[in-house]
Amino acid sequence: MKHLSSSVSARTFLTTSIMLIPMLLMAAAGAFFFVKIIDDVGETEEEVRKELVPVVKIQTLLLKAVMPPNDYLIHGNTEERVNFTRLSLAVDQALDALEPERFGEQEERDALRRVTEYWRRARISGEQLVKIPFPPEDPQAAAREMEIFDKHVDDAIAELDHLYEYVLDELREHVQRVEGTKAGAVVTTLLAFAIAILIAVVGGLVLTRTILNPLRTLDEGVAQLREGHLDYRVTLPSEDELGKLGRTLNDMAIKIERLATRDELTGLYVRREFNRFFGEEISRATRSGRPFSLLLVDVDHFKNINDRHGHRAGDRVLRTLALVLNRDMRAVDRVARVGGEEFAVIMPDTSIGAAMETAERIRKMTAAKIVHTSDGHEVSITISMGVATFPGHGESMEAVIDAADQALYRAKAAGRNCVRQAEVSRRSLKLHHG
Ligand code: GH3
Ligand code: MG
Ligand code: MG
Repeated sequence: MKHLSSSVSARTFLTTSIMLIPMLLMAAAGAFFFVKIIDDVGETEEEVRKELVPVVKIQTLLLKAVMPPNDYLIHGNTEERVNFTRLSLAVDQALDALEPERFGEQEERDALRRVTEYWRRARISGEQLVKIPFPPEDPQAAAREMEIFDKHVDDAIAELDHLYEYVLDELREHVQRVEGTKAGAVVTTLLAFAIAILIAVVGGLVLTRTILNPLRTLDEGVAQLREGHLDYRVTLPSEDELGKLGRTLNDMAIKIERLATRDELTGLYVRREFNRFFGEEISRATRSGRPFSLLLVDVDHFKNINDRHGHRAGDRVLRTLALVLNRDMRAVDRVARVGGEEFAVIMPDTSIGAAMETAERIRKMTAAKIVHTSDGHEVSITISMGVATFPGHGESMEAVIDAADQALYRAKAAGRNCVRQAEVSRRSLKLHHG
């Protein structure tokens, strides 16, 4: 099943193929029942033609055969002899034409045998009757013979009635079988139809779940990107085309987010992100009551480095400084490039004392660092820093940055390559103590 889930096209193909199965089933069942019904009807028709019709025909002939001997004894017309012979022959032929092997039941064959036997006796009796000279010398003997003749014919007809009933029963069975086949065809068709609908519904659900839902997820991801939520990621764990599309979208979002939030030269956060972090940090510090600190970093005489070694060497210095800053900071600290050669570090949950220590350590590391320019020169740099805390040096972003900036200015004024702590403003003192 693994390779199936890896492809939307395979899944679509498979689902539609499975939906075809009930259709084929219906077609096959239709053909099967069609042939079966035709067979059943054919058998029934044959039964009627070869059994029922001859039986009725013999009965009719027998009823006709009774007439000539009767008429002869009343009117003495010798033509009746010929009539009787002709009708007897017809009855014999009709009986011969019956195929005994067609009658499957023992009762039927017995009845047929009895019909033949009764008819044989009736014919002998009938032949004698039409041979008696007219008018009969012994009318009573003739009447007795006539009675015997009539009785044998009646018996034969009664047996034929039985045979007729047997055949009719068989026919009823046949008709019932056809009805059964018809019901089977209807049930099978309905069942196949139900299965077709079930498969269509299940297949539809599967396709919906595995195609439409991921499409919705992708759509949501694109919408979030458009709205500017660059940190939004879609979750599509599937291995298929849509899963790949989801991962591509996420990769794109990561790139866009990086482009929008990181400085191209140093990889540090841009000023806008710095402002956002600062706002978040003020809220957090206000909630928790714990201060956070801000480091403002400015490269000393950077213009000279550019002038002496070129702009590209200057860029290299900025990248090196970014590495130093990033390496020495904790994961929670946010390092941003806020100007050409100016950097800022937000240090959550950090007092002014701890921040001063970190600043001093960074200052020393930077001063010890030697940058190799592409044309083989060695450049050493120093930085100056101003450090301020929230809320100790200001209760707004502007106030804290201002305080750090003034401290940085004092560091520059003091001869550079040093760190200065912000001063508590008079206004702030008044707010806290007065
Ligand atoms: P100070 O010690 O007072 O800070 O002196 P400075 O020369 O560093 O200060 P100033 O602000 O006069 O000069 C900053 C220079 O930084 C000016 C500009 O050419 C340079 N600069 C700004 N952005 C970049 C950059 O992306 N790459 C390079 N190579 N130089 C830059
Ligand atoms: Mg500057
Ligand atoms: Mg500078």
